[in-house]
Amino acid sequence: MTPPIATFLTDTNFRSVLYIVSFSLFIYGLSGLTGPKTAVRGNRIAAVGMGVAIVATLLMPHLHNLGLIVLGVVLGTIVGVPAARRVKMTQMPQMVALFNGVGGGAVALIAWVEFRKSGGFADVPTYVAIFSVFAAIIGSVSFWGSNIAFAKLQELLPGKPISIGPAQQPVNFLLLAAAAACGVAIVAGSHGEGLFLGLLVAAAILGNFVVLPIGGADMPVVISLLNAFTGLSAAATGIALNNPALIVAGMIVGASGTLLTQQMAHAMNRSITSVVAGGFGGAVEAPVGAAGTDGTVRSTSAADVAIQMAYARQVVVVPGYGMAVSQAQHAVREMSKLLEAKGVAVKYAIHPVAGRMPGHMNVLLAEADVPYDQLKEMDDINGEFSRTDVSLVIGANDVTNPDARNKPDSPIYGMPILNVDESSSVIVLKRSMSSGYAGIDNPLFTNPKTSMLFGDAKGSVADITEELKAL
Ligand code: NDP
Repeated sequence: MTPPIATFLTDTNFRSVLYIVSFSLFIYGLSGLTGPKTAVRGNRIAAVGMGVAIVATLLMPHLHNLGLIVLGVVLGTIVGVPAARRVKMTQMPQMVALFNGVGGGAVALIAWVEFRKSGGFADVPTYVAIFSVFAAIIGSVSFWGSNIAFAKLQELLPGKPISIGPAQQPVNFLLLAAAAACGVAIVAGSHGEGLFLGLLVAAAILGNFVVLPIGGADMPVVISLLNAFTGLSAAATGIALNNPALIVAGMIVGASGTLLTQQMAHAMNRSITSVVAGGFGGAVEAPVGAAGTDGTVRSTSAADVAIQMAYARQVVVVPGYGMAVSQAQHAVREMSKLLEAKGVAVKYAIHPVAGRMPGHMNVLLAEADVPYDQLKEMDDINGEFSRTDVSLVIGANDVTNPDARNKPDSPIYGMPILNVDESSSVIVLKRSMSSGYAGIDNPLFTNPKTSMLFGDAKGSVADITEELKAL
């Protein structure tokens, strides 16, 4: 006879209570992610929620293969924990892309297992077949698309668009139609496994073909779009499996991913459809003698930069990916304190896609205790550059490129940028004349107002700070 405690623990109502506790923790944890001070706590609360959901699922009666499940959990922990601990902040987007893809892949595999278990959805209500087919298509697109995004961000594949040319969109449409046709046949009562495999393969090729043609500058939008896809596919699986925690968690990811995608697309001045259509942000020839430049690069020294900034009324710091690579945020904060002590007003201009993930610059600067009221969003700071004496660009490139404003044939034309070239003087800290993520030259660097201080950003900022102390 089953002991009463086991009957209680495996009871559907008890497990439902655990699921409600788990998704309440997800939602409460998520609300903590709205600010840097509460984010770590929020993340931990949501992780506890996930732990409760796993326990509730393992309490399902008649669970088979417990040994295999435990092995899977152990292997996942062995791979996941060290990877998450070791990952550098600059590699976070790749990691998000990879983990997101794994979620989509798991959803597609679950749908396949359910298909086999139920004899090709023979004995299940129609809605279960519909949601499972949806989950399989979207999950597979998300898995393969995320892998390509990972490979591009990790520079295993070139960041520039890779496509089969004008046939790309019709081919993508045919692949989607093929996956949908297999899905419709399955829902209509065909039980052949070949159909399900056809659906998975068409969706897999589609996932590759949608992300390969997308160029560097659009990657932030694509990553959040794929994230939304994984959430929606997980929610669909939750409906098919009648699992409330999966429905709620999937919808949270789907809804927040969709909102983030819209915000990122808005920040890039792009529609989501044009992002998916691809081709934005490829490498182009250097704009020799582009408007506002004389083609000459002027390099400067830390001592000159210190003098210019010490006698300025306002300095605007423009951080970018290079600041994250060199981990210069603490040195930047030290330098700013010295400037403020000399009566200089210091502000930080934050572009929505600076760095390699949404909020990247805010996180780094918050870590260095930069006061939040000094961080200015792009729309708030752009009007101020014309009143700024010195703009100090620290490892930023694409987000300051005036071609986005001035050169209609530039791949980033139309993307809003920080108008640093409107300030009286611009100082750029980077190591060389190399391009940024979009792979294009930046005429700001040859603008007569601009001086380049070459070197690792952290070292350059430390040198400027020493010079400031000596003044
Ligand atoms: P960019 O990628 O345009 O440029 C970064 C610059 O930093 C490079 O030109 C590089 O030049 C310099 N750099 C690198 N390492 C160092 C270092 N140690 N010290 C000093 N400089 C360094 O960065 P931005 O932030 O301006 O723009 C972000 C780009 O990334 C945009 O194109 C955006 O679309 C894309 N993106 C953004 C994502 C997001 O969510 N925020 C996600 C994915 C892509 P050098 O080698 O000469 O030093």
